[in-house]
Amino acid sequence: MPDIIIASMPAVASARSERSSFASRFLIRCAAFSLRRPCKLAKTDKMVYIKSILKAEVFTLDKEQLLAIQKIFNESKYMVFLGGAGVSTESGIPDFRSTDGLYNQKYDYPPEVILSKSFFDADPETFYRFFWDKMVYPDAKPNAAHRALAELERAGKLKLIATQNIDGLHQMAGAHNVLELHGSVWRSYCTRCGKPYTLAQLKQKEGVPHCDECGGIIRPDVVLYEEPLNMGVLRAAAEAISRADTLIVGGTSLLVYPAAGLIDYFGGENLILINRDATPRDSMATHLVKDNIGDTLSQIVK
Ligand code: ZN
Repeated sequence: MPDIIIASMPAVASARSERSSFASRFLIRCAAFSLRRPCKLAKTDKMVYIKSILKAEVFTLDKEQLLAIQKIFNESKYMVFLGGAGVSTESGIPDFRSTDGLYNQKYDYPPEVILSKSFFDADPETFYRFFWDKMVYPDAKPNAAHRALAELERAGKLKLIATQNIDGLHQMAGAHNVLELHGSVWRSYCTRCGKPYTLAQLKQKEGVPHCDECGGIIRPDVVLYEEPLNMGVLRAAAEAISRADTLIVGGTSLLVYPAAGLIDYFGGENLILINRDATPRDSMATHLVKDNIGDTLSQIVK
């Protein structure tokens, strides 16, 4: 298990008092934690990562590997998919961290600051300007990866999709068993009375949206920096991964948590890793494909 260096956060303290060994272990593994919060890698992970970069090999899907993965898919009884931002970029949704780069700055603060709970509380106006500008893509459509995964679910093979994305594209493609680790922009709720709002209802409101019932500020149902992830969601993802015989990990660098922590729950036979860039877990993969996830999955699932 990686020796993760944990920041001093309230969630860690609560983990100590948590009787459930699962919750404690998870908090320690995942560092609790906030939206795509980078964590320091253990020494062994760093070495693996550096080796992966040095190898710099390109593993596009060749005929032999394609047949081997199709055989795994055919024979698997319980598959789980764990996905990150790379799944959505092929639908034209950029990773928000890369959209306001050095030469394109429209905001006085980096995305990680604007998308924090304390910033939302202090300056909801700027938060919502950024939210509508960088986080919401209502016209985005599912791509080949979303469609292939939905097809695998329909076939009874894929039992769960655990995603770090907040765009709802898996459900739009027809998937039902989706765990949204970081929430969804399609849902909002009143911070005072809890009344739920849809994205369309939120959009109708000018500036900082306020609740029709009580006047409280409405917030998107997404996990902000400084906030813990939903423990029930994390637990369900970890349990499904621990039961899986095949885990497909796609579109994530596995450098940030919780994805990197969740993968440690996998004890099955086949770990299929699909990502354009090297990850610290490349050496663990049964099959490693360094290519676009949409192209890859659509070739495998026909
Ligand atoms: Zn309210």
